[in-house]
Amino acid sequence: MASKYVYFFGDGKAEGKGDMKNLLGGKGANLAEMTAIGLPVPAGFTITTEVCTEFYKNNRQYPPQLKAEVEEQLRQVEKLMGKRFGDPKNPLLVSVRSGARASMPGMMDTVLNLGLNDQTVQGIIEQSGDPRFAYDSYRRFIQMYSNVVLDLDGDILEDILEQMKELRGVHQDTELSAEDLRQLVTKFKNKVKEVLGRDFPEDPQEQLWGSIGAVFGSWMNPRAITYRKLNNIPAEWGTAVNVQSMVYGNMGDDCATGVAFTRNPSTGEKVFFGEFLINAQGEDVVAGIRTPQPINKAGGDGSLPSMEEVLPDCYEQLMEVQATLEKHYRDMQDIEFTIEKHKLYMLQTRNGKRTAKAAVKIAVDMVTEGLISEKEAVLRVEPDQLDQLLHPSLDPSAPKNVVAKGLPASPGAAGGEVVFSADEAEEAARIGLKVILVRVETSPEDIHGMHAAQGILTARGGMTSHAAVVARGMGKCCVAGCGDIKVDYKAQQFTARNGVVVKKGDVITLDGSTGEVMLGSVPTVQPEMTGDFGRLMEWVDKFRRLKVRTNADTPQDSAVARQFGAEGIGLCRTEHMFFEAERIMAVREMILAEDLEGRKRALSKILPMQKGDFLGLFREMKGLPVTIRLLDPPLHEFLPHTDKEIEDLARVMNVQAATLKNKVEFLHEFNPMLGHRGCRLGITFPEIYDMQVHAIMEAACQLIKEEGYEIVPEIMIPLVGEVKELAILRSNAIRVADEVISRYRVDVQYLIGTMIELPRAALTADEIAREAEFFSFGTNDLTQTTYGLSRDDAGKFLPYYVEREIYPNDPFVALDQGGVGQLVKMGCEKGRQTRPEIKLGICGEHGGEPSSVIFCHQAGLDYVSCSPYRVPIARLAAAHAALLEEQGR
Ligand code: PEP
Ligand code: MG
Repeated sequence: MASKYVYFFGDGKAEGKGDMKNLLGGKGANLAEMTAIGLPVPAGFTITTEVCTEFYKNNRQYPPQLKAEVEEQLRQVEKLMGKRFGDPKNPLLVSVRSGARASMPGMMDTVLNLGLNDQTVQGIIEQSGDPRFAYDSYRRFIQMYSNVVLDLDGDILEDILEQMKELRGVHQDTELSAEDLRQLVTKFKNKVKEVLGRDFPEDPQEQLWGSIGAVFGSWMNPRAITYRKLNNIPAEWGTAVNVQSMVYGNMGDDCATGVAFTRNPSTGEKVFFGEFLINAQGEDVVAGIRTPQPINKAGGDGSLPSMEEVLPDCYEQLMEVQATLEKHYRDMQDIEFTIEKHKLYMLQTRNGKRTAKAAVKIAVDMVTEGLISEKEAVLRVEPDQLDQLLHPSLDPSAPKNVVAKGLPASPGAAGGEVVFSADEAEEAARIGLKVILVRVETSPEDIHGMHAAQGILTARGGMTSHAAVVARGMGKCCVAGCGDIKVDYKAQQFTARNGVVVKKGDVITLDGSTGEVMLGSVPTVQPEMTGDFGRLMEWVDKFRRLKVRTNADTPQDSAVARQFGAEGIGLCRTEHMFFEAERIMAVREMILAEDLEGRKRALSKILPMQKGDFLGLFREMKGLPVTIRLLDPPLHEFLPHTDKEIEDLARVMNVQAATLKNKVEFLHEFNPMLGHRGCRLGITFPEIYDMQVHAIMEAACQLIKEEGYEIVPEIMIPLVGEVKELAILRSNAIRVADEVISRYRVDVQYLIGTMIELPRAALTADEIAREAEFFSFGTNDLTQTTYGLSRDDAGKFLPYYVEREIYPNDPFVALDQGGVGQLVKMGCEKGRQTRPEIKLGICGEHGGEPSSVIFCHQAGLDYVSCSPYRVPIARLAAAHAALLEEQGR
């Protein structure tokens, strides 16, 4: 069957439905749905995303039947509205707006008041009896169309508007008269002709197709591309185009336009929350040009009258609609509306973006309210989003030098050096600086800088301004609409109300939960897993199958991880213990010793310290499993580098500095990651691993015997590629362990396993499993060796690969499921063939990355292990994996 490209909605009937987001985009699907459930939606039609995809496939040509379909639907809208598109007496005006499958706020183009020309504007004057309104709409149309469709720099016409305001001595465009606006229309058109060398199009059909083309074209504009990249939205999805009859929020003081959230998107509180502007249109609220007023008394600070007070009848209509929408969608909605002469129209609804804190609270509250199930609540919170909740907030007891206060637009704390442009923010972040981006207001062009900055501060705009919405989406701290500061881009500084001047490079701290702006950097405190968060995580644990352990090398890290719900240690990297000041000497002595005796002497100094390390870890983990990996990195990483270090060591070892220097040079490797490291150390210097096994077993035996602990230590051997390596090292380990056990005369179980981090290990996992009681996939090295990509050097070109979409992601962040993942799967299968009860885990960085955790669940691993701060993220991702599997997804 031939595709249908255009879907009508209006007067309670819609051809589309809410679940057709892929085809109609989010906005189109929800306009159809709102129409069908009887909400007041201006009639219109949606051109499908399929048209966008074909448009790009066919060299920017539309499918041939599109024109006829659009014509037909336009006729329907005209019939319903009793107006005609382009009719000089009774014209229909429309808006043309983008709407992709996933919301991309402000990233693509919109044209409003389309269909106006010198004739139809007369019709609008006749119909409305209001020339001011007619010319205001007309000048807005020319501004938007020139910018969006004709690609004229927006500032050119904006400057003419500013000049007119200055000439008339007014601040707001609402203060300009009908005649002023009529003159503006003429000036705008003249300017367009002067700059572009052609007339502004008068033909409504040309305007319509120009706008449709521009909206499809905006799918590939740089900011939309950046946004898609940041949010993993595939380019193939395309955008839909919504053509809808206009309703007017700019027809006088009984008209308005606004945006609202059915619950507070920052805190999650169940309070209807929003902003509006009287006598305004479309983008005015989010553009931050005028400061919007709060919807209700609860949402404001009393400085501006709320809609509840000035338009109580409209507020009542809005309250009813928002309640209907929440019940219908069973989720917090972000809505856009217009009030024309006291009548409410809905222009959009979508599931509202929210901070992690709000996401958790809303999910938990909705379970309490009986709107959703516990399982749905768990699926409502994105694992990655939790990151926001797991990082420190400002220490309430720390002294603070507050110099300004704005709106608490996106919570969290952030400190850094002040910069005033997005490019500078990006540049600074590239060299590792932490910065706060300070702008009068932000626009979609600033998105790369917002991403690079630690936090965002704007002088203008409300809680739904661009800065606020985008920052919340990114989980970034943001203080918006901070009228206390005056930003001077030229002087590269801002001045706070009390006269304090903050220059580029000065450090400030933002508190996105209170809106405070502080001089200098303010200390922070750790988050807690209590309240709503704790409740949600209880459900998470009920639904997941995968266990979650942590990668931790110290009792302190282990304590943090346990607080976050870690169920054991999946990887203790013992090398980190060797770097401490009082040990490194002994370690160097061991490496550089001339003979076995020398090495043993040095190792005997390290043994008690190493035993102390393991006592600390076992105590902290209170009987939970602990996997300890024997020494892994290339030996030369521990070597002295400077002459002074060499001389100091020579004195301790009682050898010549020159001899030592020679030895250091001898140990140099060209490719250490593929060199003398991992189990190869254990093979060539068995006494190192013997010492470590000795220390592990002594610590375990002592705690079991003297303190009644139940411990089953897991000894892990790294970088095995050949079963014989493991066979030798395992038999050595058993010899040492059994010797310690018999000395302590206690009954201690222990496991010996290996990391699977070389392709050969995965390929021969059935053989390796003969010698291993557990496997832990070291996907950092497995990624490195499968791709032949150096972990240390790839950073220089990987971003380019990801940008060009040669790789879909950085494979060191998200597991490459098609390649490295296949080796993991094969390793699991082969391992289980030989030893069905073998324990399987992962301890590469991927163990805390949600898409990789879901993969690990599907591959049948027993646990993932990740850094302490990612433990709750992995727990939630594991629950998602189990629930998605249950739903057959
Ligand atoms: C790995 O290679 O995935 C791993 C966990 O070990 P490391 O990062 O210490 O090499
Ligand atoms: Mg490794």
